[in-house]
Amino acid sequence: MKVPRKKMNLAERLYLPEIARGLATTFRHAVNPKDNVTRQYPEEPTPLPEYYRGIPALVRDEDGRIKCVACQLCEFVCPPEAIKIVPGEYPESNVEKYPDRFDLNMLRCIYCGLCEEACPEEAIFMSDVATFVVASREEAVLPKERLLEIGGTRTGIKKWAVK
Ligand code: SF4
Ligand code: SF4
Repeated sequence: MKVPRKKMNLAERLYLPEIARGLATTFRHAVNPKDNVTRQYPEEPTPLPEYYRGIPALVRDEDGRIKCVACQLCEFVCPPEAIKIVPGEYPESNVEKYPDRFDLNMLRCIYCGLCEEACPEEAIFMSDVATFVVASREEAVLPKERLLEIGGTRTGIKKWAVK
């Protein structure tokens, strides 16, 4: 169906009244101190929403043991295939596993949170770390040690979100 185009009146065709209206809005905000929204980042960090999804991070339990059991569910569900896990086995057990390598490619991660949802051990969480700086593409692949450093010791999603 053809949608009829609304006819412009003379003022709209001239553009000038709309330009004047735009300039008036700009001027109004420019002179109003309440509209000063300049933030001195990074000295003044941007406040994040309570359930903001930052870098996914691995966590340890209260005994300092890595909670991940290398089941690879998160690797399986991750849409952009950002996670790569190489499982290892504890020497004293031929059943329990741990991630010998756990690499997270932050150039691929889309912060969807599916890894957190899929994890049966509450071992990976979307952290509140919003920024990270790297000097090369290789550095954007965060290893297990870095993910554990970000994650620290956490025992549940509520503990993460409510500080
Ligand atoms: S947040 Fe999404 S994209 Fe990022 S690692 Fe987890 S599952 Fe993959
Ligand atoms: S983080 Fe969770 S889902 Fe991913 S391998 Fe470890 S235990 Fe499995």
